[in-house]
Amino acid sequence: MASKTLKIIPLGGLGEIGKNMMAIEYGDNILIIDAGIMFPENDMLGIDYIIPDFGYLRDKTDIIRGIVITHGHEDHTGAIRHLLDEIQAPIYATRLTRGLLEVKLRRGGMLQEADLHTIEAGERLSVGPFDLEFFHVCHSIPDGVGVGITTPAGLIVHSGDFKFDHTPVDGWPTDFGKLAEFGSRGVLALLADSTNSDRAGWTPSEATLDSAFDEVLREAKGRVLIGTFASLISRIQQVAHAAQRHGRVITFVGTSMVENTRMARNLGYLDIPDEMIVPIEQALQMKPSRVVIMCTGTQGEPMSILGRLSKGTYRGFDIEQGDTVILSSAPIPGNEEMIHRTINHLFQRGADVRYSPIEPIHVSGHASREESKLLLQIIKPRYLIPIHGELRHLKQHAKIAEEVGIPSENIAVIENGTVIEFKNGQLSIGERIPGGYVFVDGGGVGDVGPNVIREREALARDGIVAVHLTLDRKTETLLGDPEIVSRGFVFMRDAEILFEDARRHIREVVEDPADEREIEIRVEKELARFFKSRVRRRPVIFVFASNSASGSESS
Ligand SMILES: [Zn+2]
Ligand SMILES: [Zn+2]
Repeated sequence: MASKTLKIIPLGGLGEIGKNMMAIEYGDNILIIDAGIMFPENDMLGIDYIIPDFGYLRDKTDIIRGIVITHGHEDHTGAIRHLLDEIQAPIYATRLTRGLLEVKLRRGGMLQEADLHTIEAGERLSVGPFDLEFFHVCHSIPDGVGVGITTPAGLIVHSGDFKFDHTPVDGWPTDFGKLAEFGSRGVLALLADSTNSDRAGWTPSEATLDSAFDEVLREAKGRVLIGTFASLISRIQQVAHAAQRHGRVITFVGTSMVENTRMARNLGYLDIPDEMIVPIEQALQMKPSRVVIMCTGTQGEPMSILGRLSKGTYRGFDIEQGDTVILSSAPIPGNEEMIHRTINHLFQRGADVRYSPIEPIHVSGHASREESKLLLQIIKPRYLIPIHGELRHLKQHAKIAEEVGIPSENIAVIENGTVIEFKNGQLSIGERIPGGYVFVDGGGVGDVGPNVIREREALARDGIVAVHLTLDRKTETLLGDPEIVSRGFVFMRDAEILFEDARRHIREVVEDPADEREIEIRVEKELARFFKSRVRRRPVIFVFASNSASGSESS
């Protein structure tokens, strides 16, 4: 039996929706599963996206044996460039997933040095001491896999993102046979998708969307714009088939949409005849009732195509009276407000907007409660570690597992950064490692920390007050009045008296002989307190002191 400890190290996706990443460690060997991004929440101002904290891996780069990417969604692939900046290891992915990774790596100029390997569902592969068996899972993108990992300490099964769809778009259901085989061999631990653990019943099949798309395309008199994720390849296929049935051409707008569909068609994952695809310029000349436009922006992202169309700032074309816009995706938690704003603006511009849940134009790609139970019954793991979800989803998953008879002490609800250890077949909670957020802001990675975010929040909420002091350094006295300028703080009309009092207060603070703090810091702290008590606000305060020309410039 195994002499060393097997560690399961969640680096992302446990306690949140997004930036999925898991490391499996045995002896001097690490296997990484997925490297995703998360979209910022409303209160993370100016942040483009968030990647997992790779801190734990940084001094172990020489023992990383491989990276498995389960499928092509951003929350599993999006951080790959940042990961490859820090480590070099072979990447294993199915054909479509690899294709999507290549699009991403090429854009970053990193395709040459990346060590990519194509794997297939059903294949076996040894990576260090890990014996990997990839099995097909249904999801909202073709070519997704889960992976069985035989380690010296036992068999671990990672579900990837999955659902049990018996009529999937690509006709390839989840590999129940393989799951049952794992179950009969004996599974030490199951790591399974929890995204929909708070949804009762079964997730509907993708096939149920066909009739909804048919209905919209039949009824729409004008153009139909369909928004979805550029990596939702199955959805793009369904829309294309529906367009074909209703004699419409299809046009793709936006770089990622165009690149992904071109790649997926080349690899044979999208079946759309050449003559059905037209460039947007041509589509705009055609009869509106003959056109379907596919684009991104269902999460209310202001710079996306739909975001710009909703505000009339997209350069290519405008929303017109008679357009129908379908948002075919579910809101990522936290984005609801932005999405509703986009929907309102689209209505304002004269479009008819169709969105779920009031219309059946989206189904989830994740297992609901009954499917999770079925997975547990087939796999019969000794231990369950719920993954991919906020804490509420992980907790619900734990309850489901108890319902089907897994003892509660064999279920480990943990969040990012809590290491699970297996020794002699027993689970224990190990050390805490970094598992927080790394913010990516423009080109920079990690140079925006929580402090910067807090400052941005304060700026957005209460504005800024700048104070200029002219000092005589020798005597530490103010020369003239402090100058105060504010933006976004209070109405200037109301500010007169307030700022007059503030100036008086600053003078007292500066001239207090007992206070030994630096003048700028003193003024900043005391002014913050003053504003807090007077107007219950805490603006960002910027104090700038200079010496007067007539003062002691030489000091
Ligand atoms: Zn996914
Ligand atoms: Zn996912």
